[in-house]
Amino acid sequence: MIVDLHMHTTCSDGIYSPEALTKMAVEAHLDVIAISDHDTVAAYAAPYHLNAGTRIIPAIEMSSDYEGEDVHVLGYYLDTADADLLAYCAQFKERRFRRALEIIDRCISLGYILDRGYLEKRIAEGSAIGRPHIARMLVKKGYFSDVKSVFDTLLYRGGPAYVPYHRKTIHECIDLIHHAGGIAVLAHPGLLRKVLTQVLTHPFDGIEVYHPKNEGRYEEFLEIAEQKGWYVSGGSDFHGVPGRFPEQLGVFVVEAKQVERFLNYQRN
Ligand code: AMP
Ligand code: ZN
Ligand code: FE
Ligand code: FE
Repeated sequence: MIVDLHMHTTCSDGIYSPEALTKMAVEAHLDVIAISDHDTVAAYAAPYHLNAGTRIIPAIEMSSDYEGEDVHVLGYYLDTADADLLAYCAQFKERRFRRALEIIDRCISLGYILDRGYLEKRIAEGSAIGRPHIARMLVKKGYFSDVKSVFDTLLYRGGPAYVPYHRKTIHECIDLIHHAGGIAVLAHPGLLRKVLTQVLTHPFDGIEVYHPKNEGRYEEFLEIAEQKGWYVSGGSDFHGVPGRFPEQLGVFVVEAKQVERFLNYQRN
């Protein structure tokens, strides 16, 4: 049995719709998946009809930060109709949209010609906008060869077109996930630099051990999970685009037995 517990759709910065993604998951013979969009659970709401050929664990990837580094908190098994969770998502969507317009204004003042129409279209479709949307616009316009170059030049944290935005603290994210009946899992710890030790002192329920950006460090993270009694999870962080994460589904997968306790989690 193979699983993938970290993937994005058009509801945030992935390029496939929730329906298309679940179809692809069936074709890639994935037995269990979790759609974990950035700050939204829209994939689990109408009008989407998720393909029933695979088990789907409801999820979200919340954006937080800690002393200047991006920290992502995954929530699993949550009630995607929870009112507080939905209020969080609605607030974030609005905040992300306003921030995206500010990023575009910065790009324009740096000499790049961009218009807001594309973003307005994504918003009308219900997407939570992120930096990758703007990076892709700049690539499409021919200013950069790939998304990574845009991040490296303009959009990295503190970069010339970077616009900070208010996020909840790690504690608040964990509380919100618990309130919605879910478990909180630290996403891709391998991406954390100076703050890892401090971030690990937070009351997570689990850690994402298996992730493309954790390569070479699985043993280290498994040990942490064991010490703390945390659930072990894993996934590809599939967005459907080339570059940072696998472009195809089924390339980076996790064996069900590697995350067995996570898969057997039962909500009280
Ligand atoms: P945002 O939600 O706007 O802060 O953007 C964060 C998302 O941008 C991450 O989840 C990744 O999908 C993507 N991202 C972050 N850093 C990079 C990078 N250096 N290259 C490509 N994509 C990145
Ligand atoms: Zn993303
Ligand atoms: Fe992430
Ligand atoms: Fe992600």
